[in-house]
Amino acid sequence: MPRPIEALIHPSALKHNLRIIRRHTGDARLWAVVKADAYGHGIERVYAGLQGADGLALLDLEEAERVRALGWRGPVLLLEGCFEPRDLELCSRLNLWHAIHCEEQIDWLATHKTTLPHQVFLKMNSGMNRLGFSAPAFRTAWSRLNALAQVDDIGLMTHFSDADALRLGRDGIAHQLAVFAQTTADLPGHRSLANSAALLRHAHRPLETHPAAGSEPLSVAADWVRAGVALYGATPDYPDHSAAHWSLRPAMSLHSRLVATQQLQAGDTVGYGSLYTAPQAMRIGIVACGYADGYPRHAAVDNQHGTPILVDGVRTRLVGRVSMDMLAVDLEPIRAAGHNAEIGSPVTLWGQGPHQSHLPIDEVAHAAGTIGYELMCALSRRVPVRID
Ligand code: PLP
Repeated sequence: MPRPIEALIHPSALKHNLRIIRRHTGDARLWAVVKADAYGHGIERVYAGLQGADGLALLDLEEAERVRALGWRGPVLLLEGCFEPRDLELCSRLNLWHAIHCEEQIDWLATHKTTLPHQVFLKMNSGMNRLGFSAPAFRTAWSRLNALAQVDDIGLMTHFSDADALRLGRDGIAHQLAVFAQTTADLPGHRSLANSAALLRHAHRPLETHPAAGSEPLSVAADWVRAGVALYGATPDYPDHSAAHWSLRPAMSLHSRLVATQQLQAGDTVGYGSLYTAPQAMRIGIVACGYADGYPRHAAVDNQHGTPILVDGVRTRLVGRVSMDMLAVDLEPIRAAGHNAEIGSPVTLWGQGPHQSHLPIDEVAHAAGTIGYELMCALSRRVPVRID
């Protein structure tokens, strides 16, 4: 028998989430962001579910080759562009759009002749201070690119730093939008600005309910949006909003089973470091999932709140520190709900569980002091993955 752990990928959820995102995009086209191996889901596994996207945005040539090998003929965008001049030839042959965020990338284009011409997105640093040309340098960079014979098309892009933050979000975005709009007003080319948070929270006023988010939609959708996490059914702005608030469905579920149970007496402790102490006699279950599977070791084991986990679809919580291959759960809520909990009982670490149950990855991530993005991306290679 293989170890009882597996991740399930739900293509129907990807299709559903695409439709939800489309409600916010207006006429804009959609780059489905599939970097980091489709946020840990596997590019090949999500490919069929993302056929409704207009383009695929990813990180490097290896991922671009994989989507071309799968048969994707539509636009592909390298979000950080080329990492060295020799990438340019393959980039042109694969017919990619590639971001240009620094002078060196323009120098490479100017000095390395390639077989085919290039389509680029010039990236502005409008306030995130990660990649891109500052507003004053942006127009010079555009003119340099525009003068290059082997550059065919120049799109314009920027990235928001605070789209997910309730109070900062609107002011931060409005400022970045203004910088971008002023600098690019008379430049031709497609614009691409919004990530999931900007799109969900700011493009479409009627779905946003919090007064601090402001009252008017912001023109973030532009010509192309770049949606990642929402496609996979997590929310970019937990705990302000749950994925369910945005009607998103999880594209990944992580399942395991109980492999042992223990009867504790009051005062007994659980696991490494004895982090959890039983307040009274209680039964716990041992689950075949640990940090070597990608479950967060820092998940809270606080006696009151803990980290949520489903056993047979009933909500309970982590007790004791997560170890490499196992973790422990409180089985009392399962008994209280009238369910059996024994060796072999199904455990849902996140996603869709039995009996119509559901545990949002964002809740688990929050209890571990991180975000759903990180948990998805951290799913370990040793976990078998099946398409639902
Ligand atoms: N655009 C860029 C440049 C990104 O780096 C990312 C992800 O980090 C995205 C879009 C997608 O962001 P999200 O997953 O929040 O939609």
